[in-house]
Amino acid sequence: MSETPEPWQWPERAWRRHVEAVRAGRRLVPQQWPGGARVAVALSFDPDHETIPLRDGETSPGRLAQGEYGARVGAGRVLELLAEHRVPATFFMPAVSALLHPAEARDYASEPHEIGVHGWIHERNTLLAREDERDLLARAMESLAEITGVRPTGIRTPSWDFSESTLDTIRELGFAYDSSLMADDEPYEIVAEGEPTGIVEIPVDWIRDDAPYFTMDRYGSVRPHTRPRDVLEIWVDEFDAAYRAGGVFQLTAHPHVIGHRSRLVVLRELLDHIRAHGDVWFATHAELADAARAEATRLDTAGATS
Ligand SMILES: [Zn+2]
Repeated sequence: MSETPEPWQWPERAWRRHVEAVRAGRRLVPQQWPGGARVAVALSFDPDHETIPLRDGETSPGRLAQGEYGARVGAGRVLELLAEHRVPATFFMPAVSALLHPAEARDYASEPHEIGVHGWIHERNTLLAREDERDLLARAMESLAEITGVRPTGIRTPSWDFSESTLDTIRELGFAYDSSLMADDEPYEIVAEGEPTGIVEIPVDWIRDDAPYFTMDRYGSVRPHTRPRDVLEIWVDEFDAAYRAGGVFQLTAHPHVIGHRSRLVVLRELLDHIRAHGDVWFATHAELADAARAEATRLDTAGATS
């Protein structure tokens, strides 16, 4: 009877070690947003397309076609809507998706948008050895840089998963920010084992993601049951509260999910609602991370002189 202790048997140092590995540090909300705006809005889209079935080894044309819709139909609709509203967005694109759709990747890397790393093939990083995860992220970064001519500075891990070595890898590869964790509504500094890392986190949440509301799995027991217009109401409430707080409204959507006709309505009406407020700073995730980093510098300076 000498098995590994169960979590309820762990000594305090064990559960503390897990919790302290990756933690939220200082909240980094500037005293004022650029242009005197009241709120910052950071929209993101993850053009996963065919990589979701591929990473699970599901290669049937039927499954792949669901992802293909994102490239063939959804992506164009999203880009068009953003152009109509003249707002930027960040596109976290798996490298395999960018290799399949290079022209689309170049659109994402062009002004006013930003392209970011989103894994190689949307791999499940928590199942990978440290070297394999690092190798895939390094190759993903290189591929996006080669295809688009732009070196990404930000990362969103596939499915927002963080393995025990993800943070180390992000630091080693020199990313300026991450957008995969959920410890706050506002940007913060990532702390590792009590030490600030200098890496900015632009937090996400499943509430502000289209996938949990709409994703359909033929053989799963859970079916989408939320009306698109109910999702609009949730996102409007999220934005309104961010506006009142003077903080950040961050959104994650997927061209193959939100790009359908009855769902694009949600994005269109959300943008109409946000745009009805004059004092909004629309930023890419990289621009938002820069503003957060400037706030960190200000706090450091204020701390040093007080
Ligand atoms: Zn994804």
